[in-house]
Amino acid sequence: MKKVFSELNKTYIALIAICFLSYQQTFARAGGGGGHSSGGHSSGGGFSGGGHFGGGGFIGGGSSPIIIILIVIGIIVYFYLKNKTNLFNDGNDDSAGDSNGSGQSLPEGLDSEKIQTAFLSIQEAWQNKDLKKVRKWISDGVYQRFNAQFAMMNKLGQVNKLSSIRINSIHLSKADVDGNYQTADVSISFTMDDEFISDKYHSFNQKFRGDSAKEYWTFIKRQDAQTDKNLYDNNNCPNCGAPFDINMGEISRCGGCGTLTNNASYDWVLSEITQEDDYSGGNNFSRRYELQELTKNDSLFSVQRIEDVASNIFMQVMEVMSGESDKILTRFSDEETTSSILKNKKEAGDFVFDRLYLNNVDLVDFNATGERLNLNFSLNATYQRVQAGQKLTLIDSEMITESYRMVLSKNIKALQTAEKETVFSYECAKCGAPYSDTTNDVCQYCSAPLIDFNRNWVLTYFNKIN
Ligand SMILES: [Zn+2]
Ligand SMILES: [Zn+2]
Repeated sequence: MKKVFSELNKTYIALIAICFLSYQQTFARAGGGGGHSSGGHSSGGGFSGGGHFGGGGFIGGGSSPIIIILIVIGIIVYFYLKNKTNLFNDGNDDSAGDSNGSGQSLPEGLDSEKIQTAFLSIQEAWQNKDLKKVRKWISDGVYQRFNAQFAMMNKLGQVNKLSSIRINSIHLSKADVDGNYQTADVSISFTMDDEFISDKYHSFNQKFRGDSAKEYWTFIKRQDAQTDKNLYDNNNCPNCGAPFDINMGEISRCGGCGTLTNNASYDWVLSEITQEDDYSGGNNFSRRYELQELTKNDSLFSVQRIEDVASNIFMQVMEVMSGESDKILTRFSDEETTSSILKNKKEAGDFVFDRLYLNNVDLVDFNATGERLNLNFSLNATYQRVQAGQKLTLIDSEMITESYRMVLSKNIKALQTAEKETVFSYECAKCGAPYSDTTNDVCQYCSAPLIDFNRNWVLTYFNKIN
């Protein structure tokens, strides 16, 4: 539907579409939501999921009396519908969608002002493709999701411009305890204009007006966290107070004192963004308590945090698949899994992701066989692949959604002590030194192997399931 509209943008159909835009979007979302594989253009901004289901059509070019009359009729109908159906909520009337805990107040230290700051700062970071201002309060997995997408957008000369951003409501959907961490899933309903622009490949440009969507933002904080810190209203280190004048990348360490700012000991850290269609009521892992028994001595272990590691790994594997150096894998994958990924890479041939959204990452099961604990994850990703030559050639004619299985393994004995607080796959789990050179398979400082079941979670299985 969207495709037809953008192709006929000078016609009455497009104009009528504008007039009924919001009505139809609400309808479309209710009837299939993000439309991950529906052939509709699932536009960006929805960093983790299929994104906003954008309405199409925009006023392009000439005007005639008939068009003007249609606009006037459209505006009248728009306001009629607005008053009549109240589809355009301004406030707190969408809590019906939150089956769990709606009406509950936000947990201590997490208020709507903070969430609003987080939301708007992330949109700004997204369209500027610059995570500098948000790095200190986002998890490594969230960082990796954005960063991998920026790398792909840069290959295609794309930017995603967002404007007229309006938050309609913020609600707590679910508050929970996960190991030594508290988690809070917050639903955010919003409206925005959304425009994908490529200066290299104009045929792929897309523009959506008044996109409305709901996302679930998961924040985590340690239960023993200091309560007086705020990562969101200043630009200083929460530990030593030094201003952040450095550009933190994969590693969000303060240059002054070396603390990891996003370790959830200071404040609520944004740990996941899930689109409404992919949200299944928060973490429902059924064997959670059995797993907690096994990991109880690792005070840094939690389901949310290990899912964050899994999403971090997934994005790095996707980067390898779409042309990045195979050597990245040597930081987290065992040999067998590396060769299986590289075999798939070879079969898939050269491609770039035009869009890539990791919809969800769920720990679904675990087993403890012999000396190892194996964690099984289920992931869904929505993407479209292209070949970028002189012209852009589509490999997938529409956005497709695929499921993946992944296993992370670690020696059970190693769970008896807390893991050193390091950035997974970017810092040495033994001495904490950053991996400056990915061509080594041992740490340059202490010579510890990068892949070590006694210290690290190791990727021992990765595959697409059909
Ligand atoms: Zn500091
Ligand atoms: Zn080391």
